[in-house]
Amino acid sequence: MPYDYLIELENCALCPRECHVNRLKERNGYCEADCSFDIGAICKHTGEEPALSGEKAICNVFFAHCNLRCSYCQNYQISRNKKKIIGREYTLNAVVSKITEILDEGIDLLGFVSPSHFIPQMKAIIYALNEQGRRPVIVYNTNSYDKVETLKSLEGLIDVYLPDFKYSNSKLSKEFSDADNYPEIALKAIKEMVRQKGTTLKLNERGQAESGVIIRHLILPNYIRNSIEALRQIAHEVSSLVHISLMSQYYPLPDVINHPQIGRTVTKDEYDKVVAEMQSLGLFRGWLQEHESNEYFRPDFFRSDADSYQHPFS
Ligand code: SF4
Repeated sequence: MPYDYLIELENCALCPRECHVNRLKERNGYCEADCSFDIGAICKHTGEEPALSGEKAICNVFFAHCNLRCSYCQNYQISRNKKKIIGREYTLNAVVSKITEILDEGIDLLGFVSPSHFIPQMKAIIYALNEQGRRPVIVYNTNSYDKVETLKSLEGLIDVYLPDFKYSNSKLSKEFSDADNYPEIALKAIKEMVRQKGTTLKLNERGQAESGVIIRHLILPNYIRNSIEALRQIAHEVSSLVHISLMSQYYPLPDVINHPQIGRTVTKDEYDKVVAEMQSLGLFRGWLQEHESNEYFRPDFFRSDADSYQHPFS
């Protein structure tokens, strides 16, 4: 029987918000998403970690809206929960057609960005591609505000999990992302991802990821204790063998430019302290984003060449 992605949206409890709203009729859940394929961009992306972007690129599907409300969101043009700022509603056929067009350029990886509130639609896309005999490496690029139960339904479908671990401090997660239980929820979610995929990132002969977990952490200015504790929790409660991607690209967007703490970029001293802690914890697998990245990495979904931005990892 074909997969009916609408069933799980009738009484939506996909993510930890557990709104129990009928997304077939309305957009009144926390994420303000409905049952459509509301997507900000489907494009080639060359700026992910080297194992993901590879020599060519990854095909990324950027879902609109979000189940977090990060005041500093770098993808704010499509994630803000005002109705349809930029998200474009595709049909399933149009999404699949656009993806296959990009995969036909020789691209092997397909990333879903901010999929937590669009998991049924994401599954429908994957099944439709599989029906056409397409089996790209599927990357689940998430903020980690995911329910373990929902993640279990993805076992066998996702090849590479790419979770953020944003906060170890619930006061910060409440203040900046409206989710005081984020640290606990995200840690459980990441443990489930590691249970499914293990701690080894499997690469093919060209160095492209085929299976595994890469945990991202974005350093916030003035909050390196949050970063250090987040890395400690990963090392002690998940594993020191897992791949980490430490990101320094934070840049204050207009909403927070005057904020006393996060109204600036991360200093070299802050960055160096977090890197030193990462090394002392034995977290040697992964990538460090160059400190200067904030000077040139600014996603812009209004640009016609929105697929061309990059942010480097070393
Ligand atoms: S996916 Fe959206 S509507 Fe569903 S529980 Fe989460 S925030 Fe609420």
